[in-house]
Amino acid sequence: MGTVATTKEPSLASSDLTGAATSDGGTLLVRAPRTGEVLGEVPDLDATQVAELVARARAAQPAWAGLAVDARAEVLDRYRRLLWRRRGEVLRYLQAESGKPYEDALRELGLLLDWAHHWSRVAGPLLADEPLRTRGLMAVGRRSVRTFEPHGVVGVIGPWSFPVMLSIGDALPALMAGNTVVCKPSEVTPLATAMAAELFVAAGGPADVLLVATGGGRTGEALIDHVDAVHFTGSVATGRAVAARAGQRLIPCALELGGKDPMIVLADADLERAARGAVNYGLANGGQICMAVERVYVEREVYERFVDLVVQQVRSLRVGPSGGPGTVDVTGMIHPPQVDIVDAHVRDAVERGARALTGGRRGPVAAGYEPTVLVDVDHSMRCMREETFGPVIPIMAVRDADEAVGRANDSEYGLTASVWTDDPARGKAVARQLEAGTVTVNDAMMHSALPELPMGGWKTSGLGGRGGAEAMRWACRQRIVQVLRTTGHPDLGWLPYRPRSSRTLERLFGLLYGR
Ligand code: NAD
Repeated sequence: MGTVATTKEPSLASSDLTGAATSDGGTLLVRAPRTGEVLGEVPDLDATQVAELVARARAAQPAWAGLAVDARAEVLDRYRRLLWRRRGEVLRYLQAESGKPYEDALRELGLLLDWAHHWSRVAGPLLADEPLRTRGLMAVGRRSVRTFEPHGVVGVIGPWSFPVMLSIGDALPALMAGNTVVCKPSEVTPLATAMAAELFVAAGGPADVLLVATGGGRTGEALIDHVDAVHFTGSVATGRAVAARAGQRLIPCALELGGKDPMIVLADADLERAARGAVNYGLANGGQICMAVERVYVEREVYERFVDLVVQQVRSLRVGPSGGPGTVDVTGMIHPPQVDIVDAHVRDAVERGARALTGGRRGPVAAGYEPTVLVDVDHSMRCMREETFGPVIPIMAVRDADEAVGRANDSEYGLTASVWTDDPARGKAVARQLEAGTVTVNDAMMHSALPELPMGGWKTSGLGGRGGAEAMRWACRQRIVQVLRTTGHPDLGWLPYRPRSSRTLERLFGLLYGR
């Protein structure tokens, strides 16, 4: 593939969306992960420049919020159609800066389009005033309604694993709620996000409603210091820092963090399909998915057969540089230093007695790691306890479902989990014992492709904020408006206190609650 975004690419280097117009600070070079080739440069915004960008978003917010929801939905629909028409460019940026296979980039774009379609349709009903039913003595004569108001400016900070979906995608419900948004993509992969934000304006989106602040952690910190709510996706360590900083300002903070997601294979499962599932959900996007299958527990009686099937599958995969449709299954790592973490986990496992039945080493592409199946693993190993975020599938034999559940829950993470069995009722029963925000029976991860479903981790995997009505609600401040009809209202219990009205009140409490 040729260079898709060079330093000469005017739309990125001088983009007004990224604040470059006001930038006199440093710049960030964006490199192709495998070759190190410089693909483009973006401003490395400092605190003052971030403040200026947020001020622009703040100035644009009242007019955006003042549009009817249908008008905002129309903008989003036009944006979605333009993203689709210009998909070739978006995919080229995405593939070039991440080195993903074409299909992984296409799926990411497809999810972004689906989310845009979803949020433009559901925003109206979700943002409508909601009458609230109240009961009891104090409810008499009162009507209560919940209204939804935008926070103002929302900051969306994203990781490098899904550059557009987890920046622009998470901006969509916030935009539909009437917020303006400043996205802070990962410094590793800012180009596709900047390009996608430009298309928002090209599609007729008002200026300064969706902006991009490029830069690293320092830029992210400055964003938290100025926005009215922050949506963060990334590692647990950074998530803690983000929450602490948001806590200083007491602004809402959604956290979508890491995972060590278990897959449980029961003896009655369709083993062939479960093995394909382990390979697909363990190695898609090179294993760089927060909800990737990171450890597999298999009932002992089918363990060997399952391992054979997985190994066969993994050996048939094509590993190489990113290319055109259908040319490669696994490429290199998006962020080259991640290879060191993957390698450290595999080495630690092997030193403690595990065996790599495939892979187990760097390559075959630069900044890559061979798809690796580990057996004879146990919970003393880093690959079973820490997030590997790479193409590694450790498989462990267990006595039965109870042991599998115990092992699965023996983790600081709780993002998602999966159970594979021919018996849906048993699958559901096991699912209910697992400490995870989402559990899938006979599949994994695909719930995240359904924006109707809320998604959020347990334990250190986060505090939610994506998907479902909850995502739209998170993007809003809520106001309860209560109206009282005054005619004939007794105003029981008001000052000054009198023996007669107190006795009436006491009798009423007794009648209502004393029986
Ligand atoms: P990261 O935590 O290193 O960085 C994420 C973002 O935070 C980047 O944009 C970075 O510049 C920014 N950042 C860094 N320090 C900051 C600070 N002090 N204040 C504000 N922002 C700061 O994560 P990463 O390496 O880019 O991504 C990989 C991680 O993301 C993995 O742990 C993965 O599990 C997680 N992830 C989670 C989900 C989810 O939905 N739960 C999805 C994808 C990735």
